Amino acid sequence: MDTAIYPGSFDPITYGHLNIIERALSIFSRVVVLVAVNPQKSYLFSPGEKVEMIRETTREWPRVEVDHSEGLLVEYARRRQIHIAVRGLRAVTDFEGEFAMALTNRTLWQEMDTVFLMTRADYMYLSSSVVRQVAQLGGDISSFVPPAVEGRLRAKFGHA
Ligand code: ADP
Repeated sequence: MDTAIYPGSFDPITYGHLNIIERALSIFSRVVVLVAVNPQKSYLFSPGEKVEMIRETTREWPRVEVDHSEGLLVEYARRRQIHIAVRGLRAVTDFEGEFAMALTNRTLWQEMDTVFLMTRADYMYLSSSVVRQVAQLGGDISSFVPPAVEGRLRAKFGHA
């Protein structure tokens, strides 16, 4: 058993992400959840806030480590000598981007490989962006994110 990195935006972490982490823990001995920065995206939460939310919601899993990185995933992975990235796949629409990213990462570092886990069916349409939209409009997000994240979203959007 090896260590794997689960990189992503996690803006914010959802039950979909948590399901991938839990399943990755049954395959790998350690999972490093890495808050990564995509310079082409703008985010609601800061890296520090995201790390805090992930720590709060994965507290029961001692084999999970949470970190953040401003740079390339492969640079982080190479520095720590972790060869495997885990990504989740929801629908065919995820496939092309994930495929390109996995191949690019392997071009940048030949020892890097990506393992894909299929979403749980009931999380198929769950994404951080849907959660942000529903939260902004004051909707009920309790089936999408844990209570700690729900509270942070309410505070962000000024809902009591
Ligand atoms: P990124 O901006 O890197 O895509 P995300 O936080 O949106 O970051 O997603 C991180 C990873 O988690 C991606 O591989 C994404 O496909 C996966 N993921 C997101 N939501 C779900 C879900 N509901 N079920 C399974 N995987 C998911």
